[in-house]
Parts: sequence; structure tokens; C-alpha cells
Amino acid sequence: MADPPSLRLLILGGTTEAAGLSRLLVDQAWLAPILSLAGRTRAPVLPPIPSRIGGFGGAEGLAAYLGATPIDVLIDATHPFAARISANAEIACAAVGVPRLVLQRPGWTAGPGDNWRMVASVADAAEALGAAPRRVFLTIGRQDLLPFQAAAHHRYLIRSVDAPDAALLPPHAEIITGRGPFDEAAERALLHDIDVLVTKNSGGDDAKLRAARALGLPVILVERPAAPMGERVATPAEALIWLRAHAETLAAARGA
Ligand code: NAP
Repeated sequence: MADPPSLRLLILGGTTEAAGLSRLLVDQAWLAPILSLAGRTRAPVLPPIPSRIGGFGGAEGLAAYLGATPIDVLIDATHPFAARISANAEIACAAVGVPRLVLQRPGWTAGPGDNWRMVASVADAAEALGAAPRRVFLTIGRQDLLPFQAAAHHRYLIRSVDAPDAALLPPHAEIITGRGPFDEAAERALLHDIDVLVTKNSGGDDAKLRAARALGLPVILVERPAAPMGERVATPAEALIWLRAHAETLAAARGA
């Protein structure tokens, strides 16, 4: 297939999907991509494409960046729970006329054998743990631990990519660090003395949910915030098809 016309692309990342898309673009000489990360992870694994790290300064800052760089198209491949940057991207792209695609993996839905309780927020998840002390496996990211200080009668095993700040932790907390994907057998071993798993509905293949199902373990699942509006795909391969189409459209518009 012949290369389409050149395209300058900004990827808002911090997810497996953004990393996968970045790897897919390495061989696409017609694309000039930049991967943007918020800078939350202490040692991010950077794919072999140009990248930048840090906030833009709200929707206005992002709009200014899109104009000054300049950027032709934006792919919002941020995490389903990263609602602020997605809202900023929507506003900024509309303001400067940059086409935007949302690349987001579908959420999980319960299947046979799952014992799930869906809650609307992390605070609701802490409350849903109940009055009786339980041993909780918590994998909701290190920024969202504060509400569990209000449920201090439980014992927590907390897993995050980087160790959380001590000030955010509930009193009885054991920390393990690790970056997925994880192995189902290892997850089962980890869950053997756990009463309940608390996690966000992040989506994607997930060994801990499969392990919880196998063990008949209850799961409290924090539902996603409202999804960003606009065109959306679920995989990096679909995003590449969208990019090809936009390169042609943009070139035709420029030639007109
Ligand atoms: P958020 O609340 O939506 O965004 C907060 C601020 O962080 C944004 O306003 C923006 O700052 C900056 N930011 C976020 N993503 C950025 C990016 N890709 N590039 C540059 N700046 C970015 O986001 P969050 O929930 O803190 O998540 C931060 C990052 O971690 C996201 O990129 C997300 O993909 C990733 N992540 C989040 C979760 C989660 O559960 N929230 C899980 C896994 C990965 P300015 O306003 O200054 O531009």
C-alpha cells in the first residue's frame, strides 16, 4: 500500500493502548507522532517515538500547544478514568479545529461465575466494604487511596506501579509494586487470603478478575466516568486506519 500524505499527530497516552499505538507507528514514515504523558509514573516505559512529559496547562494550554507545534490530528488514548485531560482535549481540539479520535478499550462486563458489585466512585467502594473487617486487595491506582482512610477497620493489600505516598494510606496497609500484565496463577496465589477485591473498570484482559472468578471472590468495581464524546475506536490497529483516512482527507483539503 502506498504511503498516505504526511500527518503530525499528538497521542495523549499513559495506557497500554497508547504504548501499543506508538509501537505500531514506528514503521509509518508518513506519520510524525509525539506521545504525551502526564508524568505520574516515576520510570515510564517510553516507546521509540518522540515524547513529551507534563501537563499543558488546561484546555487553553493544550490548544496553544496544538497550534504552535503544530499538530494535524490528536488521538486521546488516555485511561478511561482520566476524565479531565479527555475533557480538555475535546475543548482544545474544537477550539483550534484539530480532528480528534478517542482510543479506549471497552469496559468489563460480568460473566458467569463473577460476583461483582458496581459502584459509582472510589468513595462508594470504600463504603461498600461494609462494617465487618475484611482483608481487601486494592488495585485502583495510588492517587485514589485517600477514601479508604475512612474504612480503617479493614486490612489492605495495595498494588500500584509506584509505591503510594504514605500520607494517602489507610492504617493497615501492605504495599506491593508491580506493572501488568500479570499471570493468572500468580494472581490466584496473591488472592488466597483475600476477602474482597476492589478495582476500577479499566477494561482489557485482566488476570486478577479471572483469578477472582476462579476463587469465587467478591469484587467491588468502580464504574467509569462518562466517556469522552466523539469518534472512538477500541484498538491501535483501528486507530491506524483512522489516521490513514485523515491523512488523505487533510491532503485533499490542503490541495483544494
Ligand atoms: P486527569 O485527571 O484526567 O488529568 C489531570 C491533568 O494531568 C490534566 O489536566 C493534564 O494537566 C495532565 N495530564 C493528564 N494526562 C496527560 C497526558 N497524557 N499528557 C499530558 N498531560 C496530561 O488524569 P489522571 O487520572 O491524573 O491520569 C494521568 C495520566 O495517567 C493519564 O495520562 C492517564 O492516561 C494515565 N492513567 C490514569 C489512570 C487513572 O486511573 N486515572 C490509570 C492508568 C493510567 P494540564 O491540565 O496541565 O494539561
